[in-house]
Amino acid sequence: MTGRLSHEREAVDDGLYLALRGSIDADGALRGAAVPSPGPRRVVLDLGDVARVTSIGVRELMDWQSELDRRGVDVTWVGCSPTIVTQLNHVANFAGKAAIATFSAPYFCERCNRETPIALDTAEVGRGRREAKAPARTCPTCTSPLQFDDIEESYFAFTREVRTVSDPVALRRFLSEVGRRRRVALIEDQPTVLEDRPAALTALVADRVESPPPPPSRALSLADRLFYVAAGALAGVLTLVVYHIVANVA
Ligand SMILES: [Zn+2]
Repeated sequence: MTGRLSHEREAVDDGLYLALRGSIDADGALRGAAVPSPGPRRVVLDLGDVARVTSIGVRELMDWQSELDRRGVDVTWVGCSPTIVTQLNHVANFAGKAAIATFSAPYFCERCNRETPIALDTAEVGRGRREAKAPARTCPTCTSPLQFDDIEESYFAFTREVRTVSDPVALRRFLSEVGRRRRVALIEDQPTVLEDRPAALTALVADRVESPPPPPSRALSLADRLFYVAAGALAGVLTLVVYHIVANVA
């Protein structure tokens, strides 16, 4: 019903981007997604298009991950689909040593009367909270506030247990490069590539990471400049007022 598992890969420097699509449901389903050894130091596994995982598939994915854990490869899962989230919440140690960067969450727009899956950042949801809350999001179509469409306590339970990304800047850079190469591939060879998921994930990671506050020294000097301009203007006005009074008295 969801079709056989297919995968796409893109090597960037010492890293490998691997996207799975379809069902993980049979022995050897992940054979095509094997990572060569010796191979990349880092693997980013995109699970956004995994529609179904059977119990055999759960074991396959855990074996795939533990093999890379054993080899010391740094693995990050991105875009985890709802079916992957279900397994993260129910199967102990499902992701092994992998960091979980982003996942899909079910939201609903009452105005559009439509389910609207939203990609969330694991660290943002799970950070330092006893009870994870669904972050506020607005509908991309009508901009109304969305309602979270599941039970927060159970859907977000895994966010407090899993490892999150230790270097989001590096992940963003990596996904950005993957996205760039795939856009080029899309132009050259349209039918064989996935849509541009890495770009969307990059934007998501960038939201949290790449908006540092302006450096304080510069902000301070701007404030100083404004102060001097204002003080100068005030002095000018006072001089005019005094001159006016003196001229009138005289
Ligand atoms: Zn809407």
